[in-house]
Amino acid sequence: MSIQVFGIPVSRGVAIGRAVLVNSSRVDVAHYFIAEDQIEAEIARAISARDEVVRELETLKADLPSDAPHELAALLDVHLMLLHDEALTGATKQWIVERHYNAEWALSAQLEVLARQFDEMEDDYLRERKADLEQVVERILGALAREQGRNPVDAASVVQRDFAGEDPLLLVAADIAPADMMQFKRSIFHGFITDIGGKTSHTAIVARSMDIPAVVGTREASRLIRQDDWVIIDGDAGTVIVDPSPIVLEEYRFRQRQSELERARLARLRHKPAVTLDGEQIELHANIEMPADAQAAVDAGATGVGLFRSEFLFMNREGELPGEDEQFVAYRAAVEAMRGMPVTIRTVDVGADKPLDRMSAHELRHEHVLNPAMGLRAIRWCLAEPSMFRQQLRAIYRASAYGKVKLLIPMVAHLSEIRQILEITKKVQQQLTDAGHAYTNVELGVMIEIPAAAVMLPLLLRHVDFVSIGTNDLIQYTLAIDRADEAVAHLYDPWHPAVLQLLASSIAHARQAGKSVSVCGEMAGDPAFTFLLLAMGLRSFSMHPSQIPAVKQRILRADAGRLANYIQDVLNSDDPQRSAEFAFAAYRAESKLQ
Ligand code: PEP
Ligand code: MG
Repeated sequence: MSIQVFGIPVSRGVAIGRAVLVNSSRVDVAHYFIAEDQIEAEIARAISARDEVVRELETLKADLPSDAPHELAALLDVHLMLLHDEALTGATKQWIVERHYNAEWALSAQLEVLARQFDEMEDDYLRERKADLEQVVERILGALAREQGRNPVDAASVVQRDFAGEDPLLLVAADIAPADMMQFKRSIFHGFITDIGGKTSHTAIVARSMDIPAVVGTREASRLIRQDDWVIIDGDAGTVIVDPSPIVLEEYRFRQRQSELERARLARLRHKPAVTLDGEQIELHANIEMPADAQAAVDAGATGVGLFRSEFLFMNREGELPGEDEQFVAYRAAVEAMRGMPVTIRTVDVGADKPLDRMSAHELRHEHVLNPAMGLRAIRWCLAEPSMFRQQLRAIYRASAYGKVKLLIPMVAHLSEIRQILEITKKVQQQLTDAGHAYTNVELGVMIEIPAAAVMLPLLLRHVDFVSIGTNDLIQYTLAIDRADEAVAHLYDPWHPAVLQLLASSIAHARQAGKSVSVCGEMAGDPAFTFLLLAMGLRSFSMHPSQIPAVKQRILRADAGRLANYIQDVLNSDDPQRSAEFAFAAYRAESKLQ
């Protein structure tokens, strides 16, 4: 029976495919396709891992002391029985043979199927056996990981995407951390659905950067959707249709084709300069997470990187955080890929919904802070970890010898923070000079994402070269709602008068002071806000590369001078969204635009 699940649209377009359910605690399990001639070997891997666990458990059972409670031996027997159960082993084999899943993926896919069956059991005793099954699967996954450590996967045998004859796959999970989402970049999935999350949670931001349809905050998709179900993701409306009827499927296939045509049409704007009808040159920069993303920025026609979220270099690491040299190599790679265009590197912004795998001793002490979004995040964390901060700054300054680098500090709220930063950057430059490292002039900017910073912007502007407005956090902190919490997602409102007033005044103050100002939050990449931001006087936007063409199209149709005439009405309105829609419709009619 077809059902619909409603969530928050975070990445546009339509995706149609089969559901791959992934348990949140197992999102880091490797998901890749194997080639036809690898099937036998992959089954052998799965069986040998299973046999290793059988041997482990048999040894454990044999070594049980004579006075051990008999429940222990009985439990080991249950686990051994599960290991030999066809429902686990036979079906795992089937996923490998029929779908060409790697052994780890096949095993966790089958676990999801069986776990659902256990959940539906009436009998309490049987229902509780799910935990045993999970433990057994974890053990096999452990054995596979050890084997993988000894024989890493041969990249050539991995079939990354579009395996011939395969249906597209859509990932369904209760929650995916931003760090895990990064693992899925360039992965086999054509769409994402999660139970948790808001429109500007970092998980949503990474999904958007992958430019595939995604819906978050569905609350119960992972409970309602079963492994392998046919699913449609409508990333524009935020709906998920499970087991669609043939008519609905056909309708969405049509929409999918339409949206692909539209994208192809927009892609032709790539080489067109972003200039308004009245000749205002607009900067369209890219937000990136990794140096490799710089190529997508160039391909999309970005004229610089307006936000390099450097914290993603610090995630998914087994051991130490990246040191100065490793970071330098990464920043230089991004700078070189941009071929002389500016690269704005934001210093590490961890905390809140982006925890590090390895927390510093200092942070561990604060692990149980009640309100991480207001805790030791971003610049606060950096100033609490001065040696890490100096390392990062040295790496950024060293990259400046290879192109134009700008330094951006997140979450500034106090002038004292800027004073400390200025002192530290001075010291770092001296250290580099002493060590004989080359660097050039690096402009210093701060992010405006805390209302306090927006309100006292004229004071801040005396000390910095540029500002970048992070609307994701500015909205979160102005309206006091957690951007990653779907329970308050309906209150996350970029059109709120307080948000618009802070935005408009920040842009105006920066312009008056003759300092450059950009917006790098998600509002910049949403064409619904392009006219509004131009009307406020914004001339520099930074967004995910995939959003550049749609925003550019708006810019090419805008007369920035005439749009500015409408802004006071919008700012004074009780209902700015309606007022803006009305004003811009009038503008279009007057300009004979569609
Ligand atoms: C923002 O807050 O708008 C921003 C760009 O930074 P991030 O989304 O990484 O917090
Ligand atoms: Mg932010």
